[in-house]
Amino acid sequence: MPTYCPFCGGRLIYDNRVRLYTCQSCGVTLTLDEIVMEREKLAGLARGSDTKKKEAQGYLKWWLSSKKQSED
Ligand SMILES: [Zn+2]
Repeated sequence: MPTYCPFCGGRLIYDNRVRLYTCQSCGVTLTLDEIVMEREKLAGLARGSDTKKKEAQGYLKWWLSSKKQSED
């Protein structure tokens, strides 16, 4: 059960009459599907950037070490 806003982390209040979650902090209204979607999007972005960063670091290390070896 999602209770926190995917945008600001504020508390979401469920309104039975309109079947929407309203954020107490930023005032955004979301359906359950939208909350799940936004969370997955954010989680995917976080994972993606992390992997890219690690790949870049690994490549740099390899490039530096291979350069050193060829100079020796
Ligand atoms: Zn919010």
